[in-house]
Amino acid sequence: MSDWITFGNGRRGRRSWDMDPRMVERWQRLLAAAHGADRRPHCDCLHEGHHLELVVRRAERLQAGRQVEAYHIARFPGQGALHHPSCPFHETDVRRSGRSGYEEGVVREMANGDLRVALRRGLRIRDRADVPPAVAPTAGAAANGAGGAPRQARMTELGLLHLLWEQARLNTWSPDIGRRRRWWTGVRQALVTAAGDITTGRNQLLGDRLAMVGYGDEDGPALLRRTARSCGDTWRILLLGVVDSITLRRGRQDTGFVSIGFDGAAGYDLRVSAHADWKQRLARRFPMAMTALGQPRGTRAIRVIGLVTATVRVGCDGDRVRIGAWADDVALMEVEPDTLVPVASAPELAVASDLVKARRAFIKPLRFDAHRDVVHPDFVLTDTADPRGTPMEVFGRDDEAYAARRQEKIRYYNDVYGQNEWWCWNAAAAPRNIPPFPPVLDRGDRPGA
Ligand SMILES: [Zn+2]
Repeated sequence: MSDWITFGNGRRGRRSWDMDPRMVERWQRLLAAAHGADRRPHCDCLHEGHHLELVVRRAERLQAGRQVEAYHIARFPGQGALHHPSCPFHETDVRRSGRSGYEEGVVREMANGDLRVALRRGLRIRDRADVPPAVAPTAGAAANGAGGAPRQARMTELGLLHLLWEQARLNTWSPDIGRRRRWWTGVRQALVTAAGDITTGRNQLLGDRLAMVGYGDEDGPALLRRTARSCGDTWRILLLGVVDSITLRRGRQDTGFVSIGFDGAAGYDLRVSAHADWKQRLARRFPMAMTALGQPRGTRAIRVIGLVTATVRVGCDGDRVRIGAWADDVALMEVEPDTLVPVASAPELAVASDLVKARRAFIKPLRFDAHRDVVHPDFVLTDTADPRGTPMEVFGRDDEAYAARRQEKIRYYNDVYGQNEWWCWNAAAAPRNIPPFPPVLDRGDRPGA
């Protein structure tokens, strides 16, 4: 399986071309021709002997300083699970990610394919958070009659960051993506496209409030200014980028505040600040990310992605437009530095790096706001013989308290996938020995390839 799309006129193109500076124009021409055409495009997946049709959707985006029409391609609502795990239109079975940790209705797929999410804190500035963050992990425990882990009634900023990453397919990797992941403009476009298909409770399009900060993105600063102006006093802005620093600073009259620095922000004239508490709060919630940010830039094993929800002020200083943002909330996510695939621990980072080196294709199912007890694999290989993908589990603890939990997972995978049909590594007992990965299915054998 691949990301090749066949259009009604017989032409073929790759969805990944949209993230390739040399190919993006050709891709957009293909989509423009297919938009509204009688015969729909399709991917290479087969379902009951038929190709799965796709839809071409139109949106606007800023490109080289101009507002241009841009097209993207989407699956039909409700068909995410019918696509092969290695197909870009495949939707990770929610039962195999932390999305299963939400109560029903927190993430809803609408008839037009948009996702509607119920956020803990709305985007309107006068909306306050429903549940204090400290209470969230256990709230709703009693409401969950089915037993097991408690479910979340609202999505936090971390859940939203995971949703954006998943919808932009930045939690997947295959060797042919190569260096495209390092092209920030392409990453920004994938995330903005994903955000354009997500609405919040008040019918607010997430894409209208999202601004991204990153290296070498010639349209980035203008987009940030435009989004900041449109937020005004009414809406919160969502700032997303690679975080470079989170430091405690001394303000006027000796009041401290936290300053959040994004990577590649030099040309943005952006200043992001938060209450002094946030340094400690983030260190408690995201220890791996904060430890990395405490190290010199060149020695960090991971990169840290940040989503900051903030009220924003646009000011002028002569000809320069300066943007000041005051954070209401900050969510961090640790990613493997070259692929931007999220990793939740050092052993997961080791596995992800080895998978990339071995030229494997895989998905990283994300936790969202789920309680730690939700069973979902740490990775899923998408290039093996199993059409569901092959789950991979990294056991990071070897103590007695964890043993029952490990046994439960082993039983689950044995039941659902069969013994020896999934992969695991006891990273606590054998920290240096990553077992060999399950074999790749020959490309010629793959259904639909
Ligand atoms: Zn497909």
